[in-house]
Amino acid sequence: MTAVPISLGRAAPQIPPGAVPDPAAGLVDTHGRVHRDLRISLTDRCSLRCTYCMPEQGNEWLARTSILTTDEIVEIAEVATSLGIRTFRLTGGEPLLRTDIVDVVRRVAAISGPDGPVEVAMTTNGIRLAEVLPDLIAAGLTRLNISIDTIDRERFAALTRRDRLDDVLEGIAAAAASDLKPLKLNAVAMRGVNDDQLADLVAFAMDVGAQLRFIEQMPLDSGHTWDRSSMVTREEILEALSERWSLEPVPGRGGAPAEKWRIDGGPHEVGVIASVTAPFCGACDRLRLTADGQFRNCLFSLTEYDVTTAVRGMPVGAALEDRQRVIAEILHACVLGKLPGHAINDPSFLQPARGMNAIGG
Ligand code: SAM
Ligand code: SF4
Repeated sequence: MTAVPISLGRAAPQIPPGAVPDPAAGLVDTHGRVHRDLRISLTDRCSLRCTYCMPEQGNEWLARTSILTTDEIVEIAEVATSLGIRTFRLTGGEPLLRTDIVDVVRRVAAISGPDGPVEVAMTTNGIRLAEVLPDLIAAGLTRLNISIDTIDRERFAALTRRDRLDDVLEGIAAAAASDLKPLKLNAVAMRGVNDDQLADLVAFAMDVGAQLRFIEQMPLDSGHTWDRSSMVTREEILEALSERWSLEPVPGRGGAPAEKWRIDGGPHEVGVIASVTAPFCGACDRLRLTADGQFRNCLFSLTEYDVTTAVRGMPVGAALEDRQRVIAEILHACVLGKLPGHAINDPSFLQPARGMNAIGG
């Protein structure tokens, strides 16, 4: 069976002739990047409605029947591990809305690769976290990112369209008291929304023993309202923080999306993920699996590689190795189709049809 990329607008990248996947080589693309990180979106639903991610109303939800089951996720994760994936980040939508979340973590964390057990991380908005965190840790969760854009209750309610700041703070407190280290907090910097509070957010993170990472707002909102002129840039974020602290760059970024700075000589650090003004595609080692089983090789890609249809279309009782081969072929096709970089800064850039909540951030 040959994996067929589904093009959602821009021309589907051609898989170079002769580029036959070599399982032993791992997930290496045509630009030499080795992929070790797979972000799995568990749902497109969410308990919040952040303006930069989802519309207030009228979102087109994925059909429930299309959402991958836990068995399907585990099967795909096992194949991905055999091809070199070492870290799985569970995301969404809001991953904690998935009722079987502890089971998903337990079963993915039980997978071992040649270097030992895989790492299972999660990005969450923190709601419900306080309640489930002990079970998640017992199940094998090793790292946690919690998103919080403001600690001002009114602004939080306006930005997320839900008055749930207390629940998020409770989740952050539970995470801060746990052994999951380093705890990272994500904040999207937005003009006129939280750009006068960036240093306060960092101070809050330092107080709870977490590391804050600012994210430049990207054109991934399902309402398609992103506007470059109102985006707060990496430079502006650094300028705002430099008014309060001295910042010294931390060397050794590797493939990490965040550039980091040491605050006043340390030990605290702050990060900036500048996907728009300082893209880091050359070192990208990440792939994505949407909740409805589409592999994606970039947040901004217009092409998806449909694993659900392929696997669900196989005859009942198909041999395990045949199912695994089909998944591996689709994953390899996805990797081989990866472009050298995203085109946000190109006039021909087209925003993907899916919003961030349906891609998996
Ligand atoms: N619901 C979870 C959360 O908010 O952490 C996980 C999914 S969310 C899509 C993952 C991350 O993507 C969050 O940190 C969120 O702030 C970020 N995000 C969402 N839309 C974004 C956008 N348009 N630009 C930049 N970051 C965005
Ligand atoms: Fe939900 Fe996360 Fe999107 Fe906010 S950023 S709406 S919490 S998925």
